[in-house]
Amino acid sequence: MFVDSYKHKGMRRRMVEYLKGKGISDQRVLEAINRVPRHFFLDSSLDTLAYEDRALEILCKQTISQPSTVAFQTQLLNVAPFEKVLEIGTGSGYQTSVLCQLQARVYTIERFKPLHNSAQMVFEALKIRPNCFFGDGYLGLPTFAPFDKILITCAAPSIPKSLIEQLRIGGIMVAPVGEDTQTMYRIKKLTETEIDIQSFGEFKFVPMLKERKFY
Ligand code: SAH
Repeated sequence: MFVDSYKHKGMRRRMVEYLKGKGISDQRVLEAINRVPRHFFLDSSLDTLAYEDRALEILCKQTISQPSTVAFQTQLLNVAPFEKVLEIGTGSGYQTSVLCQLQARVYTIERFKPLHNSAQMVFEALKIRPNCFFGDGYLGLPTFAPFDKILITCAAPSIPKSLIEQLRIGGIMVAPVGEDTQTMYRIKKLTETEIDIQSFGEFKFVPMLKERKFY
């Protein structure tokens, strides 16, 4: 079922070259992307589109982010081996797998059960073991806090305070913030009460949903 052919590997190498051309310069990030078969996270009908720089539909009307966006967010997060990283929005599990390739200890939360389940099947196939949770990302995972890094992969209407609380001092959160379009923020937690925010351009993500109901 999960086959990574020479053709896929070739397409992936070309995609990595393309990402370099788009300004992704972190060699570890490029290598991580080169190791993750993106087509594993998509319906087989999308196989040939998997290595184009586009967002594609996954289950529950959600999307797998564009490869350049995944690369950009991952580069901004600047993950060192063994760092504890919290990801909000497991989705397909693609970004989660890239973080695992960087040897992060990954915790990921998804609010749609079918996505939570299907991502885990791919993780098993790839023999990686992120810690997967089904629930509301706004709440984070207080019992596992503090995190070295937090990555939000859906559009947050504002910077979620509860998640800043779960970041260690000196830790970094990367989050697309805004309603219709989002500004990519890199937020550094300086002290218990101070943060530093840098902006990195405009993006478009599916919304981060705040609901009591889960699916
Ligand atoms: N990182 C994913 C991106 C998926 S799109 C990937 O690589 O495929 C964003 C995901 O965030 C969607 O799956 C959506 O269901 C999820 N999401 C939205 N609001 C959420 C919330 N409050 N808590 C957890 N996940 C949420």
